[in-house]
Amino acid sequence: MDRRHFIKLTAISGTTAALTACGNPENQIIRFIPEDDLVPGVATWKPSICPLCAAGCGVIARVMEGDAEVFRNGKPGVIRMGLVKKLEGNPDDAISQGKLCPRGQAAIQVTYHPDRLDQPKKRSGERGGGQFADISWDEAIKELVGQLDALVAANDQASLAFLAKPRRGRRLELVADLLQRFGAKPPVTYELFSDEVLRRANSQSFGAHQLATVDLENAHYVISFGADFLGTWNSAVAQSVAYGRMRQAGPGARPKFVHVDARLTQTAANADEFVACKPGTEGLLAMAMAAVLNKTAGAGDYAPAKVAEKTGVPVEKIERLAREFAANGPSVAIVGGAPLAHTNAAFHAHAVNTLNLAANALNQSGGFSFVPQATQAATRPLTEILDAAPKLLLIDDVNPVFASPASWKVAEALKRVPFIVSFGSFVDETSALADLILPDHSFLESWVEAAPESGSAKAAPSKFGPVMRPLYDTRSTPDVLLDVSRKLAKPIAPALPNTFEEYLSAPTPEVRLKPDATSAPMARLKPDATSASMTWTEPQFDGDAAQYPYHFLPFASQALYDGSLAHLPWLQEMPDPMSSAMWCSWVEINEIKAGELGIEMGDLIEVTSTQGSVRAHAFLNPGIAPDAVAMPVGQGHTNFTRYASNRGVNPIAILAPATIAETGTLAWSATRVKIAKVGGPDKDGLILFGGATRERPDWTHGRGDEH
Ligand code: SF4
Repeated sequence: MDRRHFIKLTAISGTTAALTACGNPENQIIRFIPEDDLVPGVATWKPSICPLCAAGCGVIARVMEGDAEVFRNGKPGVIRMGLVKKLEGNPDDAISQGKLCPRGQAAIQVTYHPDRLDQPKKRSGERGGGQFADISWDEAIKELVGQLDALVAANDQASLAFLAKPRRGRRLELVADLLQRFGAKPPVTYELFSDEVLRRANSQSFGAHQLATVDLENAHYVISFGADFLGTWNSAVAQSVAYGRMRQAGPGARPKFVHVDARLTQTAANADEFVACKPGTEGLLAMAMAAVLNKTAGAGDYAPAKVAEKTGVPVEKIERLAREFAANGPSVAIVGGAPLAHTNAAFHAHAVNTLNLAANALNQSGGFSFVPQATQAATRPLTEILDAAPKLLLIDDVNPVFASPASWKVAEALKRVPFIVSFGSFVDETSALADLILPDHSFLESWVEAAPESGSAKAAPSKFGPVMRPLYDTRSTPDVLLDVSRKLAKPIAPALPNTFEEYLSAPTPEVRLKPDATSAPMARLKPDATSASMTWTEPQFDGDAAQYPYHFLPFASQALYDGSLAHLPWLQEMPDPMSSAMWCSWVEINEIKAGELGIEMGDLIEVTSTQGSVRAHAFLNPGIAPDAVAMPVGQGHTNFTRYASNRGVNPIAILAPATIAETGTLAWSATRVKIAKVGGPDKDGLILFGGATRERPDWTHGRGDEH
């Protein structure tokens, strides 16, 4: 008897126990008979994988019996079953090493969220109006199969598109496989905080199209160019664990950490030295340091004296940093965040690679290496479906309507698609435009897998089965896709396995993901000095500097990341580690600049770009450059559960439609803004947990003559 059959039988036999709360039928509770052989009071721990970012941290789930509100055979009720009560890091996992970030701790709320979709839905009103009617899985799958059959009958398979997150692993591989067999183009992927430009640079520099694993634990000198590697960038848990070990060296042997940025992030606040650098010039500093190391600093574009003019970093400091970097090895440089989001991002990525090569950091203890990786499925950028709307669009767990500039007009483009199917677990700004929503199981109810590209020196692929039975009438999206592929009038061939579980058990096409495979030495390709990306070009900023005097720095929220986690109340409740703000949006303004402008803590500020305005309350911050303002990303949802809807504002909406030429990804750090005080504080505006920022970086670059 398989699991689904088992659930069906028990649900039918269990519907006899109806308890009447107050006599009204809608208040009746159905108590289904228990589904598990449960041992009261005894917890078991089962492994799974955190799905909330691409790091792929291994978790263990504490499972105990409990009463759960469930949905069985079209009926809500209560059942005693094994329930996940808590998530912790898996001590046996090479990435998490027994730890989790706050987002991973809160991942349990995805499963128990009160607004989670409990069965398939079909649009019943205006597109985007958020009105959906319940339908059965049979009806929903018949509708999707009908749409696909119509494309085949018209010999128009190329009009099918699939939009997903660019996650490494076999789920996207399965999607790509199905699309290819159907005759459609590869999947389209989108993420706001993309590191694709760094992967591309790594491919050109080292022959590895992926992010590196940095051996922080054994490094003696680390310089980060904008990477919030202890907070939100790349594999934050693995990097935090390694950084903690690095910092435990004894007095006199304590390694040094330098952070280069225009804003004091959580990572920057941990640094021994903070270097204020003008936005869009970070790579010049790396190149000047490399020039000192390579003894070519006397002349050329990267001579410290020339670079000092552009970056605002004094020449003496550039030379000292370079000498320290050379003398205190093993040394390693990291780049991420805003430097990779300027129009000249490719230069910064290559420049930091050049610095690492000068320090001979590749495949060295205390340096960096690349984990052996699977050949990834080819993907297409979002612009391809914005420019030419497909006839049928399938969307898997990605919300580009929220996470893209308003000027991209993603919602308008999606409205031109005749039929959209979402596999989301929640209604959000993108799935609200769907004609059908086929809700996925939560990760705790599913087969899960990960092939992390970074975070461990060794390949760490993992896969685990469900740790609890589904609460609702949802289905695993990979299983739905496989089911649909078999039900087509002309089933795709050759056929794939029946279930994702079977697919995961099938051998991977290459031996590249053996758990104990060591990091293979990468080809030491010389950076392509002739490529345009290695030539310094001024960063392009939208907005005239006279009219829009501030660099706009949207940043990944420690709690809500890119906004995809704003529906989780624990994360809304989590104070931001630098400002202590929660449940709100805020605008970070340099405290001295604010004084000049007559702005006080909590005042209502209008932030305006050439693309529009948003309003939020001021947070006066000594840790931001005087010519920059910053806002956290995450709030400003119009339609994303009771906890996130109509709360705060979305700074991404006012970004200019600037892209990085080499990758086509969003240059989210390329917008200038102006600010104006439009109101005073109000009690629901800036919600602070408490405390104040004590770090005060030197924005005068040692001169003391400006703010
Ligand atoms: S870094 Fe945090 S959110 Fe990302 S996978 Fe790990 S625990 Fe989850």
